[in-house]
Amino acid sequence: MESKGISPFTLDTTLVDKQPKKRACSRATRTSISRKTFDLKEQCEIKDRPYIKDLYYTLCKSKRLVVVVGAGISVQAGIPDFRSSDGVFNTVKRSFNLKGSGQSMFDSSVYRDAGSTSMFHSMVNTLHSISSTSLATKFHHMLSKISTEKRLLRLYTQNVDCLELSLTGLSTAVPLPPKGPWPKTIQLHGGLKTMVCAKCGWMGPFDPSVFEQTGSSECIECRELDDVRAVVGKRKQGIGRLRPRIVLYNEFNPDGEAIGSVTAADLRSRPDALLVVGTSLKVPGVRRIVKEMAEAVHLTGGQVIWMNEEEPPAIKMLENSFDLVLKGDCQNIPDLIAQYQEHLQDEKSRRPKKRPKSEKNADGLQQLQHITTSSAQFAPKIEANNLSNMFKVTKKAASVPQSPAKPMKIGFNDKDDNSDNSDEHKPVNVYLKTEDR
Ligand SMILES: [Zn+2]
Repeated sequence: MESKGISPFTLDTTLVDKQPKKRACSRATRTSISRKTFDLKEQCEIKDRPYIKDLYYTLCKSKRLVVVVGAGISVQAGIPDFRSSDGVFNTVKRSFNLKGSGQSMFDSSVYRDAGSTSMFHSMVNTLHSISSTSLATKFHHMLSKISTEKRLLRLYTQNVDCLELSLTGLSTAVPLPPKGPWPKTIQLHGGLKTMVCAKCGWMGPFDPSVFEQTGSSECIECRELDDVRAVVGKRKQGIGRLRPRIVLYNEFNPDGEAIGSVTAADLRSRPDALLVVGTSLKVPGVRRIVKEMAEAVHLTGGQVIWMNEEEPPAIKMLENSFDLVLKGDCQNIPDLIAQYQEHLQDEKSRRPKKRPKSEKNADGLQQLQHITTSSAQFAPKIEANNLSNMFKVTKKAASVPQSPAKPMKIGFNDKDDNSDNSDEHKPVNVYLKTEDR
């Protein structure tokens, strides 16, 4: 179900037919291609924005779009990002008086002692509470629309807020199936909608009461199994603890293998555009996905667009990965596209209307009739004339091949119609006789 509050974003894919000129090129030839960087905040008329055609084409015409997103796309929904000064890492550091970085609260070591586990659970409950009361943003809606048009190959998200899951086009599966078909959304770091037993792997909807200080995170499945074993005189196996199904630093990703398979399948599917949005690409695994996807997209002649407040990381691995860098808030993109659509619509309505084909055919017929009639009028004249005149005409007619004949196009097509190479409407070459000139 689409979440309420934001009107569904619409894309009109009929307004632009031609892709801005680009050529497929290999990795080797791309080294000389320069990246174009623009600031989304710069104010000027929509039609004068130098990136707008490329952006419009990528969003409205690509058929196998891959999108990689990070926390930046959810900030407008009220969910803090991780790395900015007001981000989760700094807030956690202040709230818990941590000596090191707040990032340590997202390390697998939080489960080593009761104190850090309790802090981690409290932070997770806060994040879950914000996420479950927030709505998908305009940008999420735009991606969902592209997906329902069957042009989204995949959305890879690093976010655990699950905002996209409220939209019809962006569903996921937990756990990810090891083999396809895979869902549209791939959660690279899990999600806050699910909790899991660290021992038996039981999964269920996230229950905040489990992670409260007074709550018990004991797994009911494990307990029941142990009770049954006790009844039949078997040794107890112990009870696992429930935890949010999100991936922490330095720990095994339960979906890792499936993510590898879906990425490989997407690379084989020849993605034709890539958007990297709202992420600083600090996670090495995600950087690799972006690098490989960008190479695959460039092989098809497609475009790779970076959208973020910051520039892409200046690392060798990502050199030449991005063709277009749009600095600013990605939430402006749906509005820019809508404005450009309006502009195109305006332009289209001002253009002289193309005449319907039937009208053109009628014109062609008239021309043909006119010529036939003229010849018909010409013929009786010949008959009426005396023999010498006849001879004169014949002689002139016989001389036609020697004179540089001027070809005249007669067909059912007007000059401005580009469809005249179809066999059906092939123009007929008619050589005018000298007397017709
Ligand atoms: Zn269990």
